[in-house]
Amino acid sequence: MQLSVFRADVRAWLDINCPETMRLPAVQDEVVWGGRNFQFKNPDSKIWLERMAGKGWTCPTWPEEFGGGGLSKEEAMILSQELSRINARPALTSFGISMLGPVLLESASYEQKLEHIPKIVRGEIRWCQGYSEPGSGSDLASLATRAEADGDDYLINGSKVWTSYADKADWIFCLVRTDVEGPKHGGISFILFDMETSGVSTKPIQLISGSSPFCETFFDDVRVPANNLIGGVNNGWAIAKRLLQHERTMISGFGLADSLNSDADHASIMDKVEDAAMHYRGDSGRLSDPVLRDEIAKFKIDSEAFALTSRRSLEESKKEQGPTATSSMLKNYGCELNKRRYELLLQALGSQALGWEGSGFKIEELGVTREWLRSKANSIEGGTSEVQLNVIAKRVLGLPDILNMRKGRD
Ligand SMILES: Cc1cc2nc3c(=O)[nH]c(=O)nc-3n(C[C@H](O)[C@H](O)[C@H](O)COP(=O)(O)OP(=O)(O)OC[C@H]3O[C@@H](n4cnc5c(N)ncnc54)[C@H](O)[C@@H]3O)c2cc1C
Repeated sequence: MQLSVFRADVRAWLDINCPETMRLPAVQDEVVWGGRNFQFKNPDSKIWLERMAGKGWTCPTWPEEFGGGGLSKEEAMILSQELSRINARPALTSFGISMLGPVLLESASYEQKLEHIPKIVRGEIRWCQGYSEPGSGSDLASLATRAEADGDDYLINGSKVWTSYADKADWIFCLVRTDVEGPKHGGISFILFDMETSGVSTKPIQLISGSSPFCETFFDDVRVPANNLIGGVNNGWAIAKRLLQHERTMISGFGLADSLNSDADHASIMDKVEDAAMHYRGDSGRLSDPVLRDEIAKFKIDSEAFALTSRRSLEESKKEQGPTATSSMLKNYGCELNKRRYELLLQALGSQALGWEGSGFKIEELGVTREWLRSKANSIEGGTSEVQLNVIAKRVLGLPDILNMRKGRD
């Protein structure tokens, strides 16, 4: 189909099918994560998800035979532009879409794809990521959670930490040790299992922002069918690294506000900075604080430049089929931009951004303080900035590994 015809069709379909409230700026507690127990705060979110999933447009480029949209990258770009044009909210946000699905499409068997991909597209199963352990964060390959063969099953014992939304997830994609003899990278497998399996338990961890989005996760003789293993026994490290590239690309998107690729939620954050600066600095036409004015301008220029670089990287990845080690560059810079955005917002709000609770602050102001604290985690999650710099040095710049630090999350 000609791209101009495709654009016209998409526009017409969205006009009819995107509910009005789904065109308003996204609200944090209305984000749709999907899953067996998901409660829709806004009934329109459910309608919007069903309509988008029905077209496969929650995962536009995934194959139609597994429920995806089957679109080319060019068509997917048009869809994304048309969604941005009407400020449509994402119909579904999920680790299944941003992390697991892409590696299943590359590495899973046909039966495994048939089992899991359509449920990701429709938001029926919510996934969590079981990578980090108490002694294995940056040095991920040292992980100790053990999976021992027992008939047609594996028995899994050990624990994970920082497992985002483990207490809300239905299934986990998990790294386990299936061989303790050889090199540590060679004894890791990638396995999927239901969080309701006997022996799985979770304990939420309280964050500095006041919320508890992640957990300690414990496995005590958890019995998992051997055919839930993806890509073959002891082949998990390559899949784990590939998934991290997808994760890092996703996290880099936090830096895309106010840019060519921005979504409504992020764009509105920068609007808030300017509004706040106007209001609290008491100037009607122009921001009265020249330093803040200068910093906002610099931020906007950097944000545009980053958006163009991200787009170029996406276009170049057509040849490579998905993200590469350059995802570490994007992640590093995108995180710093997002943290700068919140620093600016704080500066603009002045003392009103110092509230934790109480009637002296508006709800949005309290939200800013907490989001500012949350943004600090951007340069830790998905691998720390130091680890990204190691990856960039070795895999992008090709520098020699003189410090023998090959063990990390790279
Ligand atoms: C918000 C958030 C959500 C997360 N969600 C998940 C999740 O869902 N699932 C999951 O499995 N994990 C999750 N994590 C965990 C995350 O991946 C780890 O925190 C991260 O990889 C760092 O590991 P660590 O915390 O053990 O720190 P450590 O590895 O102990 O690092 C401590 C410090 O040492 C530095 N360092 C370590 N090694 C090197 C090196 N070789 N060179 C230079 N510096 C080094 C690090 O940069 C860091 O500053 C999440 C983390 C956050 C903050």
